[in-house]
Parts: sequence; structure tokens; C-alpha cells
Amino acid sequence: MILITGGSGYIGSHTNKYLNQKGIETLVFDNLVYGHLEFNKWGKFYKGDLSNLDDLRKVFAKNSIKAVIHFAAYAYVGESVIKPNKYYQNNLRNTINLLQVMHEFEVDKIIFSSTCATYGEPQYLPIDENHPQKPINPYGNSKYFVEQIIKDYHSAGFLNYCIFRYFNAAGADIDCEIGEWHEPETHLIPLVLDVPAGKREEITIFGTDYSTQDGTCVRDYIHVTDLAQAHYLGLMHLLEGKESNIFNLGNGYGFSVKEVIDCAEKITGKNIKRKFSERRAGDPSTLIGSADKAKEILGWKPEYNELEKIISTAWHWHKKM
Ligand code: UDP
Repeated sequence: MILITGGSGYIGSHTNKYLNQKGIETLVFDNLVYGHLEFNKWGKFYKGDLSNLDDLRKVFAKNSIKAVIHFAAYAYVGESVIKPNKYYQNNLRNTINLLQVMHEFEVDKIIFSSTCATYGEPQYLPIDENHPQKPINPYGNSKYFVEQIIKDYHSAGFLNYCIFRYFNAAGADIDCEIGEWHEPETHLIPLVLDVPAGKREEITIFGTDYSTQDGTCVRDYIHVTDLAQAHYLGLMHLLEGKESNIFNLGNGYGFSVKEVIDCAEKITGKNIKRKFSERRAGDPSTLIGSADKAKEILGWKPEYNELEKIISTAWHWHKKM
């Protein structure tokens, strides 16, 4: 049995589906604060909170957990600046709780969702795993600190790990059973799609004076099912007893905000009204990650890596919402 914390959320639910399709038994552990009950279509589900050690102990006592995939976290960068306590309590303290119970039950394999936000301002591109880590907000710090803690447990012989640093997760399940559903929504692609869906008048572009090809920010968008595939491969890697490691997950090339909107116009066949505004605080101009290491060591092969595929799956889901 594989325990998936945060398995009712965006990347967690896609990974849960992927693992079940591969015949792997899963148990989702989620407090449903940001996760959705509707996304628990595969495996077992336990509604619990990582702040509650007894919830965790119950689950570990009743199930033979072989490994944990740990998604559960808050992930709103802007909010983390205003409410750091919320982020350190949940992302940091509650992860320490999880590690505590894993240690008690001698579960020694974890896949941890980290982020390119642990790198901070890029010093070179594409960003590889050796790029210095200097997070610039509490969200990035919380993930960075957890990485260090996991490495310390590993050095002490308690834990083996795959740490994944995601770039911009996007798109939706190809069968349209699950997709991106955040409340509130802050991500570019679903907000852009709100315009052709008739839910929003216009999309606001944050900053047009960046030193990029068209002045808007460039990001490396990676399809959520390709992320799910990486988690499956990371899990196999650990279950086969292979070395703990850290991997970027991105496509290795970026698209500007304007390019994303242009592509969404093409896919939806509708004009998407744009409004231009100031830069959003804390946004680096360009984030592109090299995922060569994941391809080489895990054999990861992203399948939905064209922007058209990412946006068309997102649009398919968006219309259903
Ligand atoms: N962005 C934008 N308008 C929006 C939301 C996002 O221009 O309404 C920009 C944002 O400034 C960033 C890019 O789109 O450059 C991707 O933002 P998102 O929040 O999706 O992901 P992030 O890169 O912050 O993780």
C-alpha cells in the first residue's frame, strides 16, 4: 500500500489515478481543506490531518505502508508572505509529524513534492539540480527546509527519498475525470481559460517590461500527468532499492504569458481580452528547468509536453467545471 498525502489535490489526484492504473494499491490521506472529495475515485481514502499524530498512527497501524508520496501542503506564494505561520505550521511542522510516524512504523521511503521556488532568482538557465537554493518567500523556504530535514534523516540511515522540484504544473487528465481546481485560483492557465468560458471579462498580464522576448514572464509548463508518471517512476526507483536523489521536473523550455494566451485563443477559438498591469511581487522573469537527470536516471519521458496539449486538456476540463 502506498500512502498519498494530499492525494485529493491537483497533482496528488493525478498521481493517485496513474498509480492505480499501474495496479498499485493506494491510500489517500487528505484533510480536504484544498483537496476535493470528488477527486477520490481510486484506491482507499482516509480523511485526516497531518497535524494530528493519532490520525496518522491509525492509518499506519491499519495498513501495510511501503512508501509515502507526500503532496499535502499549502502552495499560495503570495499568502505565504502574509501568513508565514500558516505555511510553517502546515508545510514544515506537519511534515515533521509525518516523518515522526514513518520513523515509528519503520517506513523508510518518501517521495517529496518540492518546487523550483526553492531556487529563488535564477542565476543561470536552464536551472539544474545543482543551482544554488535561495528561496525568496516563506513557501519556498518551507519546502527548502523540508528538503534539508529529509536529507538529514537519510544521512542518519532512517529514510530513502526522491525529491521532485516541479516547475509550472498545468493541464488536466486526458480522460477529463480530474483537473485543476483551486479555490481561490491564482494560476495563469485556468484564469486565462475563464475568459473564453465566460466566467471572467479579461485576463490581467502582470508585467510587460521583463527582459524576455515579448516583455512578459516566461515559465516552463509541465503537464500534470507527466508529473504523475515521474512519481510512479520515482516510486519504482525507491522500491527497487536504488539511490535517493533529487530531480527537477520541467520540459526544459519556456513560454511567455502572451504566448500562453495566444495558444489559448487558438485552442478555444475565442478572442481573449487582455489587461496590462504592474509586475506581481516576487515573480522572476524567466524560470526554465533542466530535467535531464530525471530522464536519464528514472527514464522519465514526458508525453504531453507541447503547450497545445497542455492547454487543450486544461480547456476540456475547464468546460466541464
Ligand atoms: N500571471 C499573469 N496573470 C495572472 C496570473 C499569472 O500574468 O492572472 C503570470 C505570473 O506573473 C507568472 C506566470 O503568469 O509570470 C505564471 O504564473 P502562475 O501563478 O501560473 O505560476 P507561478 O509561476 O507563479 O508558479
